[in-house]
Amino acid sequence: MQTATSTPFESLRYCVRCCMPETQEGVKFDDQGICQACQSSEQKIHINWVEREKRLRNLLENAKAKAGNNYDCIVPISGGKDSVFQLHVLVKVYGMKPLTVTFSHNWYSETGWYNLQNALQQFDVDHVMFTPNRSLVNRLARRSLGMIGDACWHCHAGVGAFPLQAAVRFNIPLLIWGESVAESSGRASYEDPVHKFDREYFTKVSAKRSPKEMTCGALSERDLYPFNVPSLDDVERVGVHGIHLGDYIFWDEERQTEFICQEYGWKETEMEGAYKGYKSAECIMAGVHDFTCYLKRGYGRATFQACVDVRNGLMTREEGFKIAQAIDSERPGALDYYLKITDLSESEFYETMRQLKHLKLIDINPPVHPKQRQNREVTVPFFEQLIAKHRYRQDPREEA
Ligand SMILES: [Zn+2]
Repeated sequence: MQTATSTPFESLRYCVRCCMPETQEGVKFDDQGICQACQSSEQKIHINWVEREKRLRNLLENAKAKAGNNYDCIVPISGGKDSVFQLHVLVKVYGMKPLTVTFSHNWYSETGWYNLQNALQQFDVDHVMFTPNRSLVNRLARRSLGMIGDACWHCHAGVGAFPLQAAVRFNIPLLIWGESVAESSGRASYEDPVHKFDREYFTKVSAKRSPKEMTCGALSERDLYPFNVPSLDDVERVGVHGIHLGDYIFWDEERQTEFICQEYGWKETEMEGAYKGYKSAECIMAGVHDFTCYLKRGYGRATFQACVDVRNGLMTREEGFKIAQAIDSERPGALDYYLKITDLSESEFYETMRQLKHLKLIDINPPVHPKQRQNREVTVPFFEQLIAKHRYRQDPREEA
């Protein structure tokens, strides 16, 4: 007799193929109960990638021809796995000369900082980075939780705004991102990719609130100035437009990660709230981000990763639920740092999350477990570790 697979939350509806619940933002199920990301992964196999690659080649050749002595394109990078793969494709395969730009969340892990600097050296590219000041990051991290339900507004908004500002300032129209929006979200499909560029895109999908809406007693409009996208006039004058490489070349993050590790010395790390070491490896706060998603919506990063593995036939749906449940519910170590910089108590944190819970989970409190696994990465920003180390060493009292 066949027993039904037991799902993490009985009251939630899950995709019949993978482990994604109906609480995922923007998720759509078809008549058979299959989520859009699962449908996309099927489409992906039937796409004529040879033809798409030709389109990419034309597009890049065009950009090169127009660029003159200026850069051919802007590549927003974090130092994560996608950044390195993007640079491999653009610099090594197509001979582009990009200007790489980074909006720093100012929460770099040690491994992440190594990966970013190593990528700049490996590909020998020019780089511009914007880093918001420490106290601004801390104040925004506090404000962000209640406003959007995670700690990362400054990163969502900055990652959206800064590359556009750079495009306008350096007069470089073409922006090139990595993974297709169709890959893991329900917001686009491979048959209908996001081609049309929308300068408010990041505000809509991840930042959710405009800089103006984030103002409060502790945050002025002046503080929030760096998070504004350029004016429509400026964007149109430069002709800013963007593409995702994943809409033109077959995206396989497992294979790509293996490749960049071998070829360019990119390093994975142990990630909180995840069982793979490569997603958002550059940020010490990723575990907190994913934990808030779990508290609000009943799934975290491990569910996300399990969905990808189930789609790719690497594990069964049942195995996916099991591993996801165990890891999503772990209290991340970085929560200590978050509470410290925001001056919130742990109960205030949980209370805020409780109020932001998805309606489908209204009568349920997702269980939380102490962390089982040791952290490999120190859950304090690498720069703070570096400063502490050097100041400590230079402290004359230590010599005595
Ligand atoms: Zn699915």
